[in-house]
Amino acid sequence: MNYNIDEEGFYGEFGGAYVPEILRPNIERLQCEYREAIDDTAFREEFDRLLCDYVGRPSPLYLTSRLSDRYGARIYLKREDLNHTGSHKINNAIGQVLLARRMGKRRVIAESGAGQHGVATATACALLGLECVIYMGAADVRRQSLNVRKIEMLGGRVVAVGGAASDGVVNGTSGGTDNANGGLREAVDAALLEWCARPDDTFYVIGSAVGPHPFPDMVARFQSVISSEICSQLLEAEGRAYPDYVVACVGGGSNAAGAFYHFLDDAKVRLIACEAAGEGIDSARNAATLTLGRTGEIHGYRSRVLLDSAGAIAPTHSISAGLDYPGVGPLHAHLVATGRAEVIAVTDAEALAAARELTRLEGIIPALESSHALAALARKSFSANDIVVLNLSGRGDKDISLMEN
Ligand SMILES: *Cc1c(COP(=O)(O)O)cnc(C)c1O
Repeated sequence: MNYNIDEEGFYGEFGGAYVPEILRPNIERLQCEYREAIDDTAFREEFDRLLCDYVGRPSPLYLTSRLSDRYGARIYLKREDLNHTGSHKINNAIGQVLLARRMGKRRVIAESGAGQHGVATATACALLGLECVIYMGAADVRRQSLNVRKIEMLGGRVVAVGGAASDGVVNGTSGGTDNANGGLREAVDAALLEWCARPDDTFYVIGSAVGPHPFPDMVARFQSVISSEICSQLLEAEGRAYPDYVVACVGGGSNAAGAFYHFLDDAKVRLIACEAAGEGIDSARNAATLTLGRTGEIHGYRSRVLLDSAGAIAPTHSISAGLDYPGVGPLHAHLVATGRAEVIAVTDAEALAAARELTRLEGIIPALESSHALAALARKSFSANDIVVLNLSGRGDKDISLMEN
């Protein structure tokens, strides 16, 4: 079984590039240029240097003590929460903004859910001197106001979208305007439309392993620094370069793609993808795309998609803005369809409990997204010698008001 992307940009039956004609030249140019960039030593060196001196990599691989005791395994946390700007998003944002500059683009747009990708992109744009516009769902602008203020402080402009109507032009199957819930889906719709309006001077920095080819592959490669560090850090700590389990939360799937990347072809490493079950997979309020989604198209790619009974994209819910999305990266759809990865759907309540537990056991306040991965620990039974690496994708400052009480 092959878990890498093929020439047409597919992982098995998932992926591809379903874009309006106006974007086709941009997408084709990007498909060539990102590979050239990634293979170019000077580009790689600048990327690696910024990851090291600016982001603070390598992020620590921390062997927990009380959390390990609680779940009866050797549980390591990959501390992406300690990166500059507080999550894994900065790895990809720096890579893509470097690429934008290399391609001569002066203006960067991005979508953001929790605001972490917006902050990371505005940061990279400030660093490299590019103009920056961030599209966010209206509901997310309200629930993530600290990140909105950070983006503006960094010189980015925030555009609030959705809440009332959303134009499904770019995703062919949507068609509905009454499903809009002012979240990540509307933000991606708006960013894609804006990219169609200004394809020449604008670079669209997608924040997850989603979107038309080459975005899923490009984002996974920029994030693959996570698993490459896990290999060398485990070799040092445990005398072997692989864990028994890698556990990560999946919204669009970028932190999971980065944490899984170097283990995809190593069948002895079990991969666990944790998605948002919201109020439960039996309720109408969830974002459990890998568990409940059907094959469809969204935002320029084919994947599992949450659809309603009429075949329109369904409204979603998760307490965590970063997981509140009706699609999922095509890599993950493929990993699950082929049985390579296991999915665990975690409710809002389980994620909140896991966030509080990590805070009290280890003194680390996790992002609610990452807390979905933490909650999966209670669903598995490990043996004492199992090495579990859990990707702690971000820190919880932005979520404190949801986690108190
Ligand atoms: C955005 C975000 C996620 C979800 O995005 P992925 O692309 O699935 O990684 C998870 N954790 C944090 C902290 C985030 O900011």
